[in-house]
Amino acid sequence: MILLLITLIAFFNFKSQAKKKIFDTKISDHERVQKLSDSGKKFKRKLPYDFVYLSDIDPTIHQDLRYFGKNNFTGKHVVGYKKHKCIMTRSAALALFKVQKDLKKINKYYSLKVYDSYRPQKAVNCFWNWAKDKGDLKMKKIFYPKFLDKKNLFAKGYIAKKSGHSRGSTIDLTIIDIRKENRINTADFSDNSINMGSIFDYFGKESHYENDLIKDLEAKSNRKLLRDLMITHGFYPYEKEWWHFTLKNESHPNKYFNFDIE
Ligand SMILES: [Zn+2]
Repeated sequence: MILLLITLIAFFNFKSQAKKKIFDTKISDHERVQKLSDSGKKFKRKLPYDFVYLSDIDPTIHQDLRYFGKNNFTGKHVVGYKKHKCIMTRSAALALFKVQKDLKKINKYYSLKVYDSYRPQKAVNCFWNWAKDKGDLKMKKIFYPKFLDKKNLFAKGYIAKKSGHSRGSTIDLTIIDIRKENRINTADFSDNSINMGSIFDYFGKESHYENDLIKDLEAKSNRKLLRDLMITHGFYPYEKEWWHFTLKNESHPNKYFNFDIE
């Protein structure tokens, strides 16, 4: 009887120890996320090596993939975007998880919102062809009113033949207030983003991080908040687009992928 009692105590003690291990506060965020993403992999279709679904790493980060649908500068659903799913390299997703964590510490109602991350080469080709099509001016009024000739979009660095997004560690994103509904106003394409001074994908000087057109101090400080957090966690910014960041130590610095987003 006593032996049985000792065995039972030892068994429950072992169980509670095991449980403790999983919830061990000493586990680093990195390890915790690693566990989470490994478990998520079981349920998702296989992605190329080192790519993950952002929702497996951090389901709290909002996603509003503008090229999956018509709410973008082409006015069309972009080729290669078969599902509304944000895909990126594991290291970029882990870094973003840390940015989100720091952002929540600053304001619990704030969240990151991703507009685009991994972009297949076929989608980049689609943008290139769109920019060459002089007759297609459907979205000009909202996204590039000052450009008389769409060809200037190449020269000004807004459209290119290759994009860092196809390497999987480049992300377009903003900060939102989660209390606001994500509704795109099709008159000016404003959404639930906090005031950044210009909309995502606006082809103009207003989108440059530093410019003399945006005088609004709130917009300037919001841009700085996003930029500082991204830089702190290993990303570098692009001066012409306040929303665009690339991971410094990206895992595929020379490879441009073309698999569909699904
Ligand atoms: Zn971008």
